[in-house]
Amino acid sequence: MTTIENNLGQIHARMAAACAQANRPVTAVQLLAVSKTFGADAVREAVLAGQRSFGENYIQEAVEKIAAVRAMQLSGAEALQWHCIGPMQSNKTRLVAENFDWAQTVDRLKIAERLSAQRPQGMAPLNICIQVNVDGGPTKSGVMAEDALALAEAIVKLPNLVLRGIMSIPDDTPDFEAQCALHQRAAAIFDAIKVSGLSGLERFDTLSMGMTGDLDAAVAAGSTMVRVGSGIFGKRSYTP
Ligand SMILES: *Cc1c(COP(=O)(O)O)cnc(C)c1O
Repeated sequence: MTTIENNLGQIHARMAAACAQANRPVTAVQLLAVSKTFGADAVREAVLAGQRSFGENYIQEAVEKIAAVRAMQLSGAEALQWHCIGPMQSNKTRLVAENFDWAQTVDRLKIAERLSAQRPQGMAPLNICIQVNVDGGPTKSGVMAEDALALAEAIVKLPNLVLRGIMSIPDDTPDFEAQCALHQRAAAIFDAIKVSGLSGLERFDTLSMGMTGDLDAAVAAGSTMVRVGSGIFGKRSYTP
């Protein structure tokens, strides 16, 4: 067994334990493998171990890696889903629209409009999560709770996008209760949009929160997608 395969097994076991603790079925939570800074060979190992969804932060790095993985013609490659989870500037939206299946860090309408306009015809609609800011001041990325519904309302009208849910990146804290409290804020925003009666929410099913350090608390608070990097691929040795 490779290290990555072994680590994937351990993360799945942790997710299963957290689901059991929260009385949720294990199928309620998906694993997004965050492969930023790791090469196509690491992705390949994870694919061979059954992993299909990958998260990337740095757009240029991701575009090259997606092409390199595609060239490997792995079995299962047709089911791969690439998620952009890094900050998105306007000048990067075209690369995201042309190369990714999901964009999870949408926090303003202008970015969503560009993604919709730049999504190539013939590709499936781009899956979108609204990034919410549950703990920071105005300088942190993510929309504030009170503005999330208005942004959702605008996004569902855009033709080449499908609004899938909410994502959040709360500040690091080692304390389980504090982690739960922050994740519950994102969950409350998710629930409020879900019951808002807005049309265009047929596929609004994703609450993306929880990383290597806090996935247990995130699952307890209702996460449906945990984003795990170092727990699968090991410690990152650089930041591009
Ligand atoms: C890097 C990153 C992760 C993964 O973090 P780990 O602590 O390595 O699991 C998850 N989400 C986002 C948005 C990230 O940037």
